Amino acid sequence: MSPTVALVVGLVVGGALVATVLLLHARPGPRPPAPLPAPPPEAVLARRLVDLMDPAVVLLDAADVVVLANRAARGLGIVRDTRLVVPELLEIARAARDGGRPRTDVPLPGALVGSSPRMVGVHGLLLAAGPGPGTGPVALVLQDVTEARRVEAVRRDFVANVGHELKTPVGALSLLAEAIEDAADDPETVRRFASRMSHEADRLGRLVRELIDLSRLQGGEPMPELVPVEVDRVVAEAVDRTGLAASAKRIPIATGGEQGLVVRGVESQLATAVTNLLANAVTYSPEGTRIAVGARSRSGFAEITVTDSGIGIPRKDRSRIFERFYRVDQSRASSTGGTGLGLAIVKHVASNHGGAVTVWSEEGLGSTFTLRIPLAARPADDPDAPAGDAVAADVSKGRS
Ligand code: ADP
Repeated sequence: MSPTVALVVGLVVGGALVATVLLLHARPGPRPPAPLPAPPPEAVLARRLVDLMDPAVVLLDAADVVVLANRAARGLGIVRDTRLVVPELLEIARAARDGGRPRTDVPLPGALVGSSPRMVGVHGLLLAAGPGPGTGPVALVLQDVTEARRVEAVRRDFVANVGHELKTPVGALSLLAEAIEDAADDPETVRRFASRMSHEADRLGRLVRELIDLSRLQGGEPMPELVPVEVDRVVAEAVDRTGLAASAKRIPIATGGEQGLVVRGVESQLATAVTNLLANAVTYSPEGTRIAVGARSRSGFAEITVTDSGIGIPRKDRSRIFERFYRVDQSRASSTGGTGLGLAIVKHVASNHGGAVTVWSEEGLGSTFTLRIPLAARPADDPDAPAGDAVAADVSKGRS
């Protein structure tokens, strides 16, 4: 290499090195972290937390002036400007200042909340001792317990009712057993009492069965999967189960309406519901009358109707007959063997299926109960199913 060439090469390599070093230095390095915004003071955070909390919280100073009320408390309508508008709440604050830790339920009138009356569970807490007795800031913590108290009341009622309902047939059985003992040498009387015993035992058995059904339907057990159920099969099963009682009263049961409907449901539950409606139709109809059961599809629902020309239901009782143990005529319960649970079961079956049950009735003319259950999806709505006609049509084709 000539000295000139060596000089040129040296200059080029040197220049490149200098340029690389300069470039490297020019590349931006890791940025220094931006200073974080200073966290809000603890007091602000605490206030924000209280505001977001679910229970309603109100802070009162020693003179009962509201110094803080969270969103939930304002939503309850208990604070106006800086004052509590419910006198019972002020009493709880006073009790807390006197050294107690009062906890009590307070009813809030509907007008305050802008909806139905509510029940709130209130807990009063003295936050700091004041300069003298009965002074100091107090916190009131309020939880809406309306639904919880309602459920408790229903449960208490239910247990009391069950006790009462079980006592009647059990009492009758023990009296009849005594009577049989006393009449041991009179076969005719023994037979009569024995037949009444069997009637009471049937009633007791039905009551226990229906109680178990009801507790299952009310969520005692998870609801089985809803599958396509043929309405015709449900109706046929229910007619079959009530046939004997109906023919004993010379009541024919006519079936009709649309055939081949398919609903989404649990067949055993639906059969129980329709059986209960048919059994009532038989029970509350005079001998020699007629009963009809039919089905039709209406706006995505199968409507199963049970019509009788029996005694009908007085207007004042119509809205209550679906309650547990409600009977129009309590005194007739032992002669009809009624438990007052049949329609409560029907109502639960309907609601578990996303449906409903309604009644039309006129005293002396008869009643029509309508059970509405969602129809099963048509194959066309189901992307996995082969295209075809409605399920209803497919099923009716499949059955000869
Ligand atoms: P029960 O076991 O007493 O029949 P239900 O819950 O099935 O209980 O019915 C509640 C009440 O509704 C009955 O006691 C009866 O007074 C009235 N009821 C039900 N179905 C009919 C009907 N088809 N006709 C007249 N009254 C009825």
